[in-house]
Amino acid sequence: MKHNLLLCAILSAAATYANGAPLLKIDDDLPAGNIIVDAVEGDTVKLQQDLRDSKQWFYWAFRVRGAQGRTLSFDFTNKKGNGPVGVRGPVVSTDGGKTFTYPLDGKSKSDGFTYTFGANDNDVLFYECHPYVRADWDKFVKKHSKQLGKHFAVETLCRSRKGADVPAARIGCINKEPKFRYFISARHHSSESMASFVLEGAAEIFFRDDKRGEWLRENVELMIVPFADYDGVQAGDQGKGRKPHDHNRDYTKFIYPETKAITEWIASHAGGRLHTFIDIHCPWIRDWENEYVYSPLRDPKILPDADIEKRFSELLEKHQTGSMKYEAKHDIPFGVGWNSGKNHAQGWPAVTWACKKVKGLKIVRTFEIPFANASGNVVTPESCREFGGDIMNVVYLLTKEEK
Ligand SMILES: [Zn+2]
Repeated sequence: MKHNLLLCAILSAAATYANGAPLLKIDDDLPAGNIIVDAVEGDTVKLQQDLRDSKQWFYWAFRVRGAQGRTLSFDFTNKKGNGPVGVRGPVVSTDGGKTFTYPLDGKSKSDGFTYTFGANDNDVLFYECHPYVRADWDKFVKKHSKQLGKHFAVETLCRSRKGADVPAARIGCINKEPKFRYFISARHHSSESMASFVLEGAAEIFFRDDKRGEWLRENVELMIVPFADYDGVQAGDQGKGRKPHDHNRDYTKFIYPETKAITEWIASHAGGRLHTFIDIHCPWIRDWENEYVYSPLRDPKILPDADIEKRFSELLEKHQTGSMKYEAKHDIPFGVGWNSGKNHAQGWPAVTWACKKVKGLKIVRTFEIPFANASGNVVTPESCREFGGDIMNVVYLLTKEEK
């Protein structure tokens, strides 16, 4: 990291205009920052995602200062794979991270883009995907602070490897023994940020002032882990494919505090028994199935109830209300493509652990949420939240069917 910043500083200095124009500075000084600047040659910036301890992946995030009034081309030098620029181009903020848009939708290439900075754009953030870090979770907690103590409890799951408190939360029926317990997690792969907005949307329907919300608050406790790789999220790591294995291949060896703590929390708080276990992910950056919402289906041999899984898909297709549309035909059956036992050779993923170890489970599911394009629709934090609500609504409908 120090090396990158030093290189960056040298390159920035080289990019200073002789006539006293602003100093161009490109660095990773932003939440979940991740960039290596290879060279600045005139108006062309050569750069690449910082893989750190991961194999080939595509997350990056950088900040540009001092480029106001200029047009710069950003050329990604790691051209392996069909990235690392998203389907709708970079996610950009010109107000310090308050709002984000896709200003180059339809005008970017998979390995670069050209951006014209406005006269006052002296500080612009560029992300591969919409960021979601601890500060965003804190905003979510604040937004629902009236529910704290009543239907919302924020706790500490564990201490991360870097010494940070990793949050967990209980939502709904938190002050007495609930009839049902659901569990939902995100960010086993730290760069898969759209998963976090889905998690927020799934949780929020517990707070709604309607009959469904009332029933959920009375009968169900939702246990959530927003950051299954906390340090990776905060640092802007790829997370996927970490060495020696990533967090979602850790449910055999448990080398990460978060995964171990998740299993211990379910054992101690829920007596090892849950009704539903859902883990949210994002897929590869573009093309093929990666531009549809889908579930990689589990091995029917370990699934608690294959009929319920099918029914889940039918109900989601029928009742979804958001702009992000799920179609069961895009699901990947177990044994097809990458979705096989081979993919878990390094260790069990969370859902496999749940299938094998959690008692009473009816629903177990992984969702893959595209970064920018879902069946032709624009993926935004809001469309992800809507989809999270749609998922949790189906869990609710299936739970009600059982009564
Ligand atoms: Zn993932």
